[in-house]
Amino acid sequence: MERVSFDVVIVGGGVAGASTAWFLSKTGLKILLIDSKPWSRIGDKPCGDAVSKGHFDELGLPYPEGEQLEQKIEGIKLYSPDMKTEWIVKGEGFEINAPAYTQRLLKESSDKGVTIMDLTTASGPIVEGNFVKGIKIFNRRENKEYEVYSKIVVDASGNARSVRTKLPSEMPIAEQLERKDADVAYREVLLSRDEISEPEYLKIFISQKASPGGYWWYFPKGKNKANVGLGIQDGMGYPNPHYYYEKYLKTYAEDLLPDKVLVKGGALVATRRPISTMAWNGILAIGDSAFTVNPVHGGGKGSAMISGYCASRAIMNAFETGNFGAEGLWDMNLCYIERYGAKQASLDLFRRFLQKLSDSDINYGMSKGLIKEDDLLEVSTYGNLHLSTADKAMRVIMGLGRPSLLVKLKIVAEYMAKAKQLYISYPKKPELLETWKASVTSLYNEFNIALEK
Ligand SMILES: Cc1cc2nc3c(=O)[nH]c(=O)nc-3n(C[C@H](O)[C@H](O)[C@H](O)COP(=O)(O)OP(=O)(O)OC[C@H]3O[C@@H](n4cnc5c(N)ncnc54)[C@H](O)[C@@H]3O)c2cc1C
Repeated sequence: MERVSFDVVIVGGGVAGASTAWFLSKTGLKILLIDSKPWSRIGDKPCGDAVSKGHFDELGLPYPEGEQLEQKIEGIKLYSPDMKTEWIVKGEGFEINAPAYTQRLLKESSDKGVTIMDLTTASGPIVEGNFVKGIKIFNRRENKEYEVYSKIVVDASGNARSVRTKLPSEMPIAEQLERKDADVAYREVLLSRDEISEPEYLKIFISQKASPGGYWWYFPKGKNKANVGLGIQDGMGYPNPHYYYEKYLKTYAEDLLPDKVLVKGGALVATRRPISTMAWNGILAIGDSAFTVNPVHGGGKGSAMISGYCASRAIMNAFETGNFGAEGLWDMNLCYIERYGAKQASLDLFRRFLQKLSDSDINYGMSKGLIKEDDLLEVSTYGNLHLSTADKAMRVIMGLGRPSLLVKLKIVAEYMAKAKQLYISYPKKPELLETWKASVTSLYNEFNIALEK
């Protein structure tokens, strides 16, 4: 087995790994990025492909353009289960061609010196003592195995979590996923019979009957095709999403042609707070591998890019100090939690609440304004569910028909604020991690009990 050395090895060229490479390509570090897929398929994974414009602005990443951009988005239309209430939540975004955009980031990184190996799979980490020292890889193009030694390995392998889950379980970064904290999602891209009206609006349909614990989406990709699919909560014994897809496609996408399928496929998506630490000795985990998806809407490309940015920042810090241990890489956690993770932690609770509601509760809550469009925007942007005193009084009157729903909403808002606070006070050093984790576990357990009452 040939032995080679790099400063950093990134496993996975999806949007998380590609953005890390893109940010690091300006640093002069010696970087290797590997992906199991051939070049032409990197970035191609089951996804709704909708990304908020704000993420590109925040991070200074280039906007998708040309073939990378399939539709500019102006907002989302959200429908109640009985379809009687329609909310419009304004917000700019892009419906992207994910392989084309991801490959653009990789191409720009490669032009600046990042080494990219496609058709190359990481088979396992190289661990010495309690430190990750590199990765074993197999390159199918050359039919050759390598031992790649590096100061830092970045696990950007998506749901496969190919590196960190092979680490000794004493390393906190090896944390596993519980099935109920994930959705199984399925989507197809179909041609439409007629021109799609208002392609600049994404549509989301809530229905526990047609997508238990998740939702249906209809995301136009221009005027004559759309990405349509659904997610359902995993680990609950529900039939697989394809069953619901066949059964309800006509209800939500009557204008699409089921025999004109351009792409199809499904995947798992974690819908929880981020992994308790994204950094350990010689290793970082980012993107889906580190559970960075928004727990409520399931969007994960923007937050994967944020985690890529934070990884690049932590890596540069570590090379400045020469400390590649958990402490030297700790800025990864502080950066991500400040920018997105604290919000995810509070949305994890909101998600648990939403998944327990019945269609009749949701119809009632949406039509009576127990929750409003503005709340939804505030919740999804910042993870805050504020109920002001005047608001509460109004909602009490409106919620008289469902007092228990109103009480629960109040509990949820209180716990969401507590969870966010707990994440904002994330430990500044690895030694304090276990104590902080115990507080998190206790808060989430308390919340689950309060919700059952
Ligand atoms: C059906 C569905 C719909 C979704 N809709 C949206 C949406 O509309 N908007 C949104 O923002 N998010 C959406 N998401 C979530 C989003 O797709 C992910 O959060 C995001 O793509 C994660 O990017 P990533 O780079 O972390 O992982 P991935 O894109 O999965 O990339 C991981 C890469 O690692 C490679 N890899 C894995 N193991 C190895 C190994 N051992 N060696 C080498 N390479 C390896 C894989 O080949 C892959 O290229 C959706 C998810 C699903 C399932």
